[in-house]
Amino acid sequence: MDSEQLRENAHKMVDFIADYYKSIENFPVLSQVEPGYLRELLPDSAPNQPETLQNVLDDVQAKILPGVTHWQSPSYFAYYPSNSSVAGFLGEMLSAGINMVGFSWITSPAATELEMIVLDWLGKLLKLPEDFLSTGQGGGVIQGTASEAVLVVLLAARDRVLRKLGKNALEKLVVYASDQTHSALQKACQIGGIHPENCKLLKTDSSTNYALSPNLLSKAISDDISTGLVPFFLCATVGTTSSTAVDPLLSLGKIAKNNGIWFHVDAAYAGSACICPEYRCYIDGVEEADSFNMNAHKWFLTNFDCSALWVKDRNALIQSLSTNPEFLKNKASQAKMVVDYKDWQIPLGRRFRSLKLWMVLRLYGLENLQCYIRNHINLAKYFEGLVAADSRFEVVTPRVFSLVCFRLLPPNNNEDHGNNLNHDLLDAVNSTGKIFISHTVLSGKYILRFAVGAPLTEERHVTAAWKVLQDEASALLGSL
Ligand code: PLP
Repeated sequence: MDSEQLRENAHKMVDFIADYYKSIENFPVLSQVEPGYLRELLPDSAPNQPETLQNVLDDVQAKILPGVTHWQSPSYFAYYPSNSSVAGFLGEMLSAGINMVGFSWITSPAATELEMIVLDWLGKLLKLPEDFLSTGQGGGVIQGTASEAVLVVLLAARDRVLRKLGKNALEKLVVYASDQTHSALQKACQIGGIHPENCKLLKTDSSTNYALSPNLLSKAISDDISTGLVPFFLCATVGTTSSTAVDPLLSLGKIAKNNGIWFHVDAAYAGSACICPEYRCYIDGVEEADSFNMNAHKWFLTNFDCSALWVKDRNALIQSLSTNPEFLKNKASQAKMVVDYKDWQIPLGRRFRSLKLWMVLRLYGLENLQCYIRNHINLAKYFEGLVAADSRFEVVTPRVFSLVCFRLLPPNNNEDHGNNLNHDLLDAVNSTGKIFISHTVLSGKYILRFAVGAPLTEERHVTAAWKVLQDEASALLGSL
């Protein structure tokens, strides 16, 4: 890396990115290209001779950006947000600049130690029980995604039971969650060798706002025990992907504890809100959990990827995931004086991700981060009010955080048309390129999801988005 070359080119790149943000509202939010568009625009093979950065940037502008869906657009309301910020970006930049691979403490002591400290900081902001902090038997670790987080704790829980019961018990192990749980859990079960029928997704409905019922869980556990199965893992969600349902952690956690079940809490999206005292109640009961996860890369101004996982018993992870090849042996690890994060995750290599989270926490400070969350929740409330005031629409589930689930009511209450109508409305609004929203299905009904959470979103963007939805709805209803 030539310093002067870096200085010159990186300045150009930062200018390019700053201009991108300045003009981000000019792009269609959802990319409107057809599959395979890029093959026609780029050569078949890599160049023999070097090209200039300017040539590449010209291609980014002309050929790549049309194929980008602009997650940072202020009119992005789909899925859940994936925040970027100046602080997060600078942290990523620094991490790319230093470019170390911190799998063991010795490979970059600062990377391991900063990660431990920053996750203790964040754990304290969330008022997690002390057992989750690195000062005791637990600690935090940054995973790439919530999917990796649930996988590693499922493996730790599985191996903890199998050490007691023997490997043959694998086919008897049972996992519980609600049918609203993210599909990451099913993937973890597949990878973890759990029998497909033993990944039990318990039914939810509108009577509990799609939260998991403790009674159903208790019954499922006793039924399974009576047939010789071995309950070992429960995943509860705070802020489900479809509708932000909140599973009742306290009651579920007590059931898990009484049955010796590992209790994991997935707060991938909504965890960020719990730094505000008024939303902390949604993770009351986390004291009962064995592991807790939130994605700082969703709604916490930290550029992708940064999924924070805390466990109470770090040894359970280590016993499941550690390897100790000769070529990695070193004095600090052998003396067990340090944390080697390679033993808390699937891959060996790992990036210096704590830098960006540290930057976010320091350059914003708690009060600004709380304002940031509250502002989005207020914007979602505002949108919910707009929907409620138009009798052609209905708000489908009570809004808890910054997601509004709603739908266009079918004319004459003819539910046979309701799903197609909302599907067509989704297509119509997203094809305008002015906004991007997504959908889900709840109790058989096709529902539109409006998730506020992009850092640049202001009230005017929400107002404009609602106008697009109303206009497209009028056009659709007029053509029926
Ligand atoms: N859990 C919940 C509640 C989610 O909403 C999501 C994604 O939106 C995930 C897990 C999966 O997240 P990741 O992409 O980090 O694996």
